[in-house]
Amino acid sequence: MYKAKAYSAASATSPLAFDSIPRRDTTDRDVQIEILFCGICHSDLHTVRNEWSSIMPTVYPVVPGHEIVGRVTKVGAAVTRFKAGELVGVGCLVDSDHTCPNCKDDLEQLCPNQTLTFNSPDKHNTAPVTYGGYSESIVVDEHFVVRVPTNLSLAGVAPLLCAGITTYSPMRRWGNLTGKKVGVAGLGGLGHMGVKFAKAFGAHVVVFTTSPGKKEDALRLGADEVIISTNPDEMQQHAGSFDFILDTIAVDHDINAYINMLGRDGNITLVGAPETPLQVSSFGLLLGRRSLSGSIIGGLKETQEMLDFCGEHNITADVEVIPIQKVNEAYERLVRSDVKYRFSIDMASLKSQ
Ligand code: NAP
Ligand code: ZN
Repeated sequence: MYKAKAYSAASATSPLAFDSIPRRDTTDRDVQIEILFCGICHSDLHTVRNEWSSIMPTVYPVVPGHEIVGRVTKVGAAVTRFKAGELVGVGCLVDSDHTCPNCKDDLEQLCPNQTLTFNSPDKHNTAPVTYGGYSESIVVDEHFVVRVPTNLSLAGVAPLLCAGITTYSPMRRWGNLTGKKVGVAGLGGLGHMGVKFAKAFGAHVVVFTTSPGKKEDALRLGADEVIISTNPDEMQQHAGSFDFILDTIAVDHDINAYINMLGRDGNITLVGAPETPLQVSSFGLLLGRRSLSGSIIGGLKETQEMLDFCGEHNITADVEVIPIQKVNEAYERLVRSDVKYRFSIDMASLKSQ
């Protein structure tokens, strides 16, 4: 075991602060990674503030961070896919059982025995729970490590490990989006990646936003049209016309307003995870034979596929790079939807502390 510098929160109401955390020594199957950048996902904030207490209560201290990009510093004797010096990524998962039907189908994100990158019981007993990427280093089983394309800016690659795969996976699953009318609700970290992927997949992309100030950006990011979702007239003009909508909204909202945007057999997939349950009117789904689904990140094989796709198509997240010392300010801004469009923490800032 060794000690690594990190930022942790001691309770749901404490700010994140400097900490020193245990990391395990590399076992045969492990890759030790020096973390270069870590994105700030809204899930970090939900967890730090214990907003998901009914589903997965937060164990404190919590070290968030699951959009990790770094350089391999050491590998275990049995590691075959990586060597020291290579650029790699780690997302939301660091372990699964490898034997369940989901794992066998490369869907580790659905494994009932998965270990999340932070706030999951630590099977290695290094600490009560796993600690995430707001840290100078991490040690991860090589199965959960992915290769990062070398042609992309690393600060903008980090968010692909969660925001990227979470939006890529449900769109791929929905099928060929070429020429389809695809909506993305919420232009935040996930939403802006959803726009980029939908555009790359050849869809007619429409952004639903509550922030009129994001309209120009939405068009620049690849949207063909922008709807201010708080304007009933604009919403009404598009009623019943969408094939697919990806809902990335992080707070409670009227899902029925978006369901009513779908055409016949249209689907709305939730990736946003608000603290409180959404109220769904059956009629919105019945009339039009529409469907409502959910999706969570993606498996390791698909995460690698997504990263390779991003390398080929030059896709990264639009990031505001911050030092770790600004993380609490960044959380306040994230709550106000005041980030374009993902914070990426430069972990070099942790070295001086
Ligand atoms: P984010 O950057 O905060 O983006 C959320 C967006 O929601 C905001 O930018 C805003 O967009 C919109 N929004 C905010 N308040 C709203 C309101 N009152 N009504 C309607 N829209 C509102 O968050 P994120 O990191 O993208 O994460 C989004 C959600 O996905 C979170 O709940 C997160 O936990 C969840 N998540 C799920 C997965 C998964 O695997 N399913 C993975 C990662 C994250 P506008 O300003 O454009 O309205
Ligand atoms: Zn995330």
